[in-house]
Amino acid sequence: MPSGRVHNLINIAAFSVLSGAALVASRHQLVVLTPAQALTFTLGFAVGTFLLSPDLDLAEGRVDSKRHWGILGVLWVPYGLLFSHRGLSHSWVLGPLTRLAYLALVIALVVGLLRYITPGITLPTVPEPVNVKVIIPVVLGYYLSQWLHLIADGIRPDHGMKRSLRRPRRR
Ligand SMILES: [Zn+2]
Repeated sequence: MPSGRVHNLINIAAFSVLSGAALVASRHQLVVLTPAQALTFTLGFAVGTFLLSPDLDLAEGRVDSKRHWGILGVLWVPYGLLFSHRGLSHSWVLGPLTRLAYLALVIALVVGLLRYITPGITLPTVPEPVNVKVIIPVVLGYYLSQWLHLIADGIRPDHGMKRSLRRPRRR
């Protein structure tokens, strides 16, 4: 299993190759990329690589992506306890979603707690429905970063499916 640092290096190398290819392709007008799309893709990819790595399922221990959260890394300990290593958290479609859902839950809990403790506090609100043109590159960047991690782990896209298919049916 590659270490967190090796995973980061693999993702950075893949990103460099991809951005180089995208640059060449856009110079030859094979693809049209706006600076906003490139930026949001990069943002999604960086967040997926450094902050929301599948190895947060080990967050009850010492793990690279938990360290990047600094003091807030402790918020990922329950995630590490909830998900077994390389289980659902390392699946291709649902795995990345579990981390987003967990993060949304933690933010909702923190906001709820802050509102309860300090009723008069004004918290930043969620921005108006974000443009789809911005959301798609973020999601693509995030998922690509996750899939590179899974490929490096040697995990195939049907991970978890075979196991559930093999399970004997209960009557
Ligand atoms: Zn992993």
